[in-house]
Amino acid sequence: MTTTVHAYASPSADGDLAPTTIERRDVGPHDVLIEIKYAGICHSDIHTVRGDWGPQPYPLVPGHEIAGVVAEVGSEVTRHSVGDRVGVGCMVNSCGECKNCTAGDEQYCLKGMVGTYGATDRDGTVTQGGYSTHVVVTEDFVLGIPEGIGLDAAAPLLCAGITTYSPLHRWGAGPGKKVAVVGLGGLGHMAVKIAHAMGAEVTVLSQSLKKQEDGLRLGADHYYATSDEATFTELAGSFDLIINTVSAAIDVSAFLGLLTVGGAMVNVGAPAEPLPVNAMALIGGRRSFAGSMIGGIPETQEMLDFCAEHNIGAEIEVIPADKINDAYERVLASDVRYRFVIDTSTLG
Ligand code: NAP
Ligand code: ZN
Repeated sequence: MTTTVHAYASPSADGDLAPTTIERRDVGPHDVLIEIKYAGICHSDIHTVRGDWGPQPYPLVPGHEIAGVVAEVGSEVTRHSVGDRVGVGCMVNSCGECKNCTAGDEQYCLKGMVGTYGATDRDGTVTQGGYSTHVVVTEDFVLGIPEGIGLDAAAPLLCAGITTYSPLHRWGAGPGKKVAVVGLGGLGHMAVKIAHAMGAEVTVLSQSLKKQEDGLRLGADHYYATSDEATFTELAGSFDLIINTVSAAIDVSAFLGLLTVGGAMVNVGAPAEPLPVNAMALIGGRRSFAGSMIGGIPETQEMLDFCAEHNIGAEIEVIPADKINDAYERVLASDVRYRFVIDTSTLG
């Protein structure tokens, strides 16, 4: 038995998203049924449905920034109760047994984590994401959203928040550290807020100065345009850490030149194209070029608690479902301030 729920799905790599219905499985002993209230639009949703990262099982319901309320729990569930404010991010399952899962790095599960949409779940069905009214998720992949953060502003934390928190934390953003954030979009604006709350000196490197006022208000100390070549000479050798959130291929080697000796540039942006790196830009300063994918479940809960403690939510524009396609175009045009969030009560 399954339950039919309203959703918005992409029909193909080049078709607009449209209303549909999908089936959700019955609540098993370890499952939680969530009434979804809000779902963020991540650039990864767009990369995925447009086929940037390879073929997809259409029709596909995207959405991995899910915030809602627990409507039902299975008989064995201990972590969540009916009425709890909860979230779901980019994964809904993993093997739970490999060394990465047991270390709390479920996103790097050696058997492959189960993505929130477009993935084959353990029961053989294809997962469908958060642009829908309800979802059933195994309790271990459901996060608690602390009081104090609105569910709408919390939704983007489940991907944009953890994806930036994790490398900022791991690479030691904090007092006395100079951190640059490349790209002021959904991930970028969260990186600015979180790095600022961690106590780092934060610089935004954006294509232009048109969002400068916002960047400074969000917590940046400095703001530069990468379209201005002088930026790269003025800031040469100055950052301990650069977080690159850009969704397109950029000239990584030029940015590596902005790092101190021993500095690191961490890529979270995931363009379809390769990012070539000039070895001289690395060896000339004992620099690192790294990558990072979301964060594990324990770290995601830690991030949510950190955000609540520091009064951090995403800066959002809440939209009805029939504006999803327009929102995609605006994200692609770097015209997002700073995350679109779907009000799922408008889905059907
Ligand atoms: P977004 O809201 O579209 O932000 C990306 C920003 O990059 C834009 O706002 C823009 O900022 C800048 N940008 C866009 N095109 C550019 C270009 N051609 N040249 C230079 N700068 C450009 O996207 P997002 O949701 O933050 O996602 C960003 C990337 O991270 C995507 O590739 C997404 O798939 C990836 N992602 C990765 C993970 C992970 O686990 N690693 C998780 C989530 C998302 P300015 O206007 O300020 O220049
Ligand atoms: Zn995402």
